[in-house]
Amino acid sequence: MKSFDTHTVNKTDLKNYFAKTHEDLEIIHQVKDKYPVKLTPHIEKLARESEAIRLQYLPHPKEIISYGTATPFEEGKKASKIYGLERLYRDRVLITPHFDCPAYCRFCYKKSRVMRNKPNMTIEDINKAVFEIGNMQEVRGALITGGDPLMDKEKLFYLLDKLTALSNITEIRVGSRTLLTTPHIFTDELCDKLASYTIPNFQEPEKSQYLAINVHFNHYDELSPEVIEACYKLTSRGITLRNQTVLLKGINDSVETMSHLFQQLLRNNIIPYYMNHCMPVEGSDYLRTSVQKGLDIYKHLCTESSTSIPHYVYAPSGGKVHVGPDSKFIYEKRDNLNLIKVKMLYDAKEFKNIAKKELPPMHWESEDGKIEGYYIDGRDD
Ligand code: SF4
Repeated sequence: MKSFDTHTVNKTDLKNYFAKTHEDLEIIHQVKDKYPVKLTPHIEKLARESEAIRLQYLPHPKEIISYGTATPFEEGKKASKIYGLERLYRDRVLITPHFDCPAYCRFCYKKSRVMRNKPNMTIEDINKAVFEIGNMQEVRGALITGGDPLMDKEKLFYLLDKLTALSNITEIRVGSRTLLTTPHIFTDELCDKLASYTIPNFQEPEKSQYLAINVHFNHYDELSPEVIEACYKLTSRGITLRNQTVLLKGINDSVETMSHLFQQLLRNNIIPYYMNHCMPVEGSDYLRTSVQKGLDIYKHLCTESSTSIPHYVYAPSGGKVHVGPDSKFIYEKRDNLNLIKVKMLYDAKEFKNIAKKELPPMHWESEDGKIEGYYIDGRDD
């Protein structure tokens, strides 16, 4: 199987692309110290041609100014008693076998050097996690996330072998951006292997198991011939590809760009699944729009064919919130932050019981027992 070919952006002439002045250049050096930069040759090639891709991967002077949170979901990882395993919901778990990625997105919630340097799960951690999941009879789904789980394929296959042997696990999702960053790794051998984890049971369909890949495309410039070919190798083998787009200022925050992206994905057998509002991560403010801006785009999408409408969501630390075309937001201003106050669908006691931790900061239990909290909104100026 082909391996990764990654290198740091320091070796390229793209490294200071956003530095227009000497002062910018100084700031970019500070940014790179705080938030590491990494590209793959394929991303580097695309970045030379597309501003939308440059903005996603190259360091920007504006990263140094921030109102965001350093690690919005880190509390959960610390609270889990098995390293790399997290359960926030009744029916599914999150497993993070590998924390690193082939290339670093500037809006990633793991963008800090601390998060980038986290150790990966060991085989012993994986064994413990799988044993624990086997005892969680309400859990039927496992989301394998990262970092990028495909960076260590042998470990991923080990985990998949173990998970598919559990009778309670019927849905496995692998979250990966390698189809964009390193499409060349999708050899026939790798695609056959991944497809082998979809196991239909014709006699007892409730026992069928399937593997889907959650892909991550934010702009149609990312859909290069190599990328589309790699996607086709997977979909033609029966692997479902569901796309999660992040709404990003100056990259895809227009009806035209989103609509074009989702239509291109559909044409290539990739389901537009989520449009995520960009999380309030420290150093990513310059790429965050308001939640309302996403809603304005979403309303337009709702007038198009329903097959190309993803779910629009934003994610306070207490859980995902779905935005509908009629959603209204309650705003509060505090310490120069625009906050959205929101009541989630999740039960606070059940959350504490399942996740085995207290509610995150800026969250509390509402009078009717639901999780209520604040989300830091982005800005459109
Ligand atoms: S691929 Fe995902 S986890 Fe990796 S850097 Fe990008 S956003 Fe972060």
